[in-house]
Amino acid sequence: MILIDGKKAAAELREQLKQEVAELKTKYNKVPGLTVILIGDMAPSQIYVRNKEKSANEVGLKSEVIKYPDTVEENTVLEKIKELNNDETVSGILVQLPLPKHIDKQKVIETINPSKDVDGFHPMNVGNLSSGYESSVPCTPLGCYLMIKKIEPNLSGKKAVVVGRSNLNGKPMTQLLLKENCTVTITHSRTKDLKAECLEADIIVAAVGIPELVKGDWVKKDAIVIDVGINKTENGLVGDVAFDEVSKVAKALTPVPGGVGPMTIACLLKNTVECFKRSQI
Ligand code: NAP
Repeated sequence: MILIDGKKAAAELREQLKQEVAELKTKYNKVPGLTVILIGDMAPSQIYVRNKEKSANEVGLKSEVIKYPDTVEENTVLEKIKELNNDETVSGILVQLPLPKHIDKQKVIETINPSKDVDGFHPMNVGNLSSGYESSVPCTPLGCYLMIKKIEPNLSGKKAVVVGRSNLNGKPMTQLLLKENCTVTITHSRTKDLKAECLEADIIVAAVGIPELVKGDWVKKDAIVIDVGINKTENGLVGDVAFDEVSKVAKALTPVPGGVGPMTIACLLKNTVECFKRSQI
């Protein structure tokens, strides 16, 4: 069984991006810039943002974090986004989610200029992705996609099952696999027989949030299994896939932690570089 090492894949991607950023600097005399807006003091968000900033600096991006207390007015945030939309030194804007209840998430997402939307959440990017056009792609499914392609470069005709239909993970993952000519089934909480669906799959991507939902006897021999889930349990962090059981049947499997997580941040940097390159055309 191939243990898909997300830390190694992310380090390789960061190294590639570092070289690319250096070349862009030589060519344009400037580097891509990533600005993150962080609202409130929720510990997980603080940690995510710190890691994003550290990784951005490591590859040579210009990075900035703008912090607001969780009492900030919605309009202050929207005005700041508009200012960043017009700032040529900013290639990518990310507003760290979740937001305080009084701030309308959709309004925030739609205020970001789609060409600077490094999270790929703006409806224009969602539409472009589903139409098969160039777009920013949400970082987690993009990371999953790159890891799957490393194991199996030709996905044409493969049967893929995506478990979970969130806008963040399941839906964009489905689009990426469809673009690769997979036959994709997207499943969710109302799916009648999830085990039977999974047993058909050459590729399973689980993005649910239920610890060890996908069992060993749900997985076809030699399937590729990507575990997006991050679940805190009394035994520590576990994914949505029963790792020990599934590792006995799968061809390749991502661990939790150390699988999808590290690739998510590396893909944010990739999206920032791509936004910069598109803005120079
Ligand atoms: P979400 O928005 O809560 O969506 C969960 C999806 O799972 C929904 O579509 C839901 O179906 C489906 N679902 C729930 N119970 C199910 C069941 N019994 N059988 C089949 N499907 C079921 O979650 P998310 O934001 O996509 O996140 C999923 C997991 O990924 C979480 O553990 C999260 O922490 C993790 N995550 C990891 C990363 C990373 O970087 N590794 C990034 C983001 C998220 P319905 O639509 O019918 O409700």
